[in-house]
Amino acid sequence: MGNEVITVPELPEVETVKRTLNTLVKGKKIERVTVSLPRIIQRPAEPEMFCDALTGHTIQEVERRGKFLLVRLDGLVMVSHLRMEGRYGVYVSDEPIEKHTHVIFHFDDGTELRYKDVRQFGTMHLFSPGEEKTQAPLQKLGIEPLSEDFTVESLAAKLRKRRSFIKPVLLNQHIIVGLGNIYVDEALFRSKIHPLTPADSLQADQLARLHEAIIFTLKQAVDAGGSSIKSYVNGQGEMGMFQHQLQVYGQEGKPCVRCGQLIEKSVVGGRGTHTCPSCQGRR
Ligand SMILES: [Zn+2]
Repeated sequence: MGNEVITVPELPEVETVKRTLNTLVKGKKIERVTVSLPRIIQRPAEPEMFCDALTGHTIQEVERRGKFLLVRLDGLVMVSHLRMEGRYGVYVSDEPIEKHTHVIFHFDDGTELRYKDVRQFGTMHLFSPGEEKTQAPLQKLGIEPLSEDFTVESLAAKLRKRRSFIKPVLLNQHIIVGLGNIYVDEALFRSKIHPLTPADSLQADQLARLHEAIIFTLKQAVDAGGSSIKSYVNGQGEMGMFQHQLQVYGQEGKPCVRCGQLIEKSVVGGRGTHTCPSCQGRR
């Protein structure tokens, strides 16, 4: 077991929220919406318009794009980003409303989807179907690492144009979506690449390993239900507490699972970064 780490939801956590929401709210009709923290609602400009527009619509499917949730309704798409600590939970309407609950979607069956966000950084945007693809925040998102489009070739093509260090490049959502600090550290460890390696200098063998490692790391975490993490929710309003399968993130001072050297923590691009000094030697 690794340490308990607190961090932001990444692709696997959002994927888990998406899957759980699909089991809980698909087919439910919104009777009304209440917003108690207007700044969560980014589009339309007036929260009242957001509430009015959603009233009477039925949730058809919850999808994911990068770290965004897309709630598809009949004739509308709501794009939601959990940011640091946003959480969804489904409750019966007479259950007490917990602190930091900012948006409530009241359904016509007496249940509610509640959005809770202690840090208040989460966002919601409402669009007509299709409109979401051409506008912020989804418009410039990069490649989905668990899609068929993500190949060694497409990864190589993206990285060839980037001179910055590989770690910040992998964190950049305009290049590849869904990776955050945890899974970038894990993928670089697994592929034995130092985070300060210039992205455009990766060799064919490194690119192949990195491609495999990104997919493996994310899939493993998706299978585990999103690794860990105090601040994320499984969609039923429960604090997600999953088994960690982290090999390097949060493991500083512990022996590397491959070579026994102690894992080190440094700062790369302002982010806490975990490496094995032996396995991830710089070329
Ligand atoms: Zn090692």
